[in-house]
Amino acid sequence: MSKRSTTTRSEELLDQALALIPGGVNSPVRAFHAVGGTPPFMVRGDGPWVWDADGRRYLDLVGSWGPLILGHRHPAVLAALRDQLERGWTFGAPTEGEVRLAATIRERMPSVEMLRLVSSGTEATMSAVRLARAATGRSKILKFAGGYHGHADPLLVEAGSGVATLGIPGTPGITPGAAGDTIVVRYNAPPEAEAAFERWPEAIAAVIVEPVAGNMGVVPPAPGFLAGLRDLTRREGTLLIFDEVITGFRVARGGAQARYGVTPDLTCLGKVIGGGLPVGAYGGRRDLMELVAPAGPVYQAGTLSGNPLTVAAGQATLDQLDDGVYQRLETAGQRAADLISGAASEAGVPMIVNRVGSLITPFFTGSPVTDYDSAKASDTARFGRWFHRMLEQGVSLPPSQFEALFVSTAHTPDVIDEFAVALAGSFSGP
Ligand SMILES: *Cc1c(COP(=O)(O)O)cnc(C)c1O
Repeated sequence: MSKRSTTTRSEELLDQALALIPGGVNSPVRAFHAVGGTPPFMVRGDGPWVWDADGRRYLDLVGSWGPLILGHRHPAVLAALRDQLERGWTFGAPTEGEVRLAATIRERMPSVEMLRLVSSGTEATMSAVRLARAATGRSKILKFAGGYHGHADPLLVEAGSGVATLGIPGTPGITPGAAGDTIVVRYNAPPEAEAAFERWPEAIAAVIVEPVAGNMGVVPPAPGFLAGLRDLTRREGTLLIFDEVITGFRVARGGAQARYGVTPDLTCLGKVIGGGLPVGAYGGRRDLMELVAPAGPVYQAGTLSGNPLTVAAGQATLDQLDDGVYQRLETAGQRAADLISGAASEAGVPMIVNRVGSLITPFFTGSPVTDYDSAKASDTARFGRWFHRMLEQGVSLPPSQFEALFVSTAHTPDVIDEFAVALAGSFSGP
């Protein structure tokens, strides 16, 4: 490729952004620090496509990091948003839409007997942890290395996603007190979790886990891992929290808990349930959720929680998600993963492609990726070069080895064919 002689609009915008917004972005992984270069500034999306400020079109496999399970501007979601816009977009009072959305979630995810809508996944996990501590009278939280549960202080310890991407070992600004109640053990390593309970008996309020890890790249739960956590937590009087912010209504109609047949006490949701608008939710056993204010004493609130636009987009999205959709997502995900593996092996590039449904991570390593350590064995420099070749070919991938590619229903067989064309030759070279 010859270097463009003129500055692109995205480069101009990044220059301006760098003076105004830390790193030029409002969420760290968008900044391309892990892969280098200038992130395209996006101006439009439609179906599986996005267009940048320079008029370039990309096949989008970021999907806004998970919410866009139907792709961009799905007609049903657009219509629901337009309809709500005409009627006003926030009232600070209860609305019928919230009741419907809660009922839809409970019907598909029966462990969620009651739920509270919030405005981000971070708020959901933060609130679920508070509730677990209140319900058990215990302080400690057990999480898994490389698990990302939003950016609340106690959960940022050894976290995945941007923390993994940027190689930040911990985050300044978190007090020893906030971090000290967090125990971190390896994902897919039941003996380590058991040992933590022996070391801190009757001290652990909750185990929080991504039932399919998505923020160290995609790492499926080993057979029996989730069921083992269920048994262990039940025996120890500890609450099991599934962080289904990515997996909820993504990996199955009833989320990961349906796909793997393991029932948590509390579930955190986000992403898909807002259809692309800011959202989160936490819910679970009625006796626990009735502790939340104003039903109970555990305070938690939000000016824009259950926002009518979010609720309209979320409901319209969930209404589209029938069994046929999950079958199509499975098929599209399988085909995309096979194409990546095939192209890599043809080029002699060692690669492990992890996939659960429409979540895919191609790891640049020859050894199985089952936890954060094995994920970190990947050749991230090589990932960066592949990422840029794909971008040149008009494919927008998550700009980090430690994230998932998100396939949507807009990724029809024809679109996957275009992906195949872009992949050809993308692994050759250094
Ligand atoms: C994205 C994510 C969060 C945080 O959600 P935000 O809406 O970004 O605050 C929490 N947990 C998991 C598993 C996530 O993927």
